[in-house]
Amino acid sequence: MSRKVDAGRTIGGVAVHGRAVDPETRCAHWHSPLDIIAIRFACCERWYPCNDCHAELADHPPRVWPHTAFDERAVLCGACGHQLTVNEYLGCDSTCTRCGASFNPGCALHYHLYFAR
Ligand SMILES: [Zn+2]
Ligand SMILES: [Zn+2]
Ligand SMILES: [Zn+2]
Repeated sequence: MSRKVDAGRTIGGVAVHGRAVDPETRCAHWHSPLDIIAIRFACCERWYPCNDCHAELADHPPRVWPHTAFDERAVLCGACGHQLTVNEYLGCDSTCTRCGASFNPGCALHYHLYFAR
């Protein structure tokens, strides 16, 4: 087994950890034109493009944001660097509230990996 390498980068002023992270937060796992958000994980408060990047690089299991923390800024727009709160993201209809960039609507299928429901 080869060692997994953290090939993260700084995006919008924050360090995004992950595998093969591109300048708009795409990663080795999710790299369509719309895959331009990173998530701040409740467990370590570090930013990762996706759950798989966290699973491969973090040394602990992920934790989801509890409802009481839904005003925390936990979603990064890779297009403009805006940090959305969980509530802002859940209500944004897959569009950045600052720059209008489209996010992958398929991410809705993965909300439970990041946010309490
Ligand atoms: Zn973590
Ligand atoms: Zn990833
Ligand atoms: Zn944006």
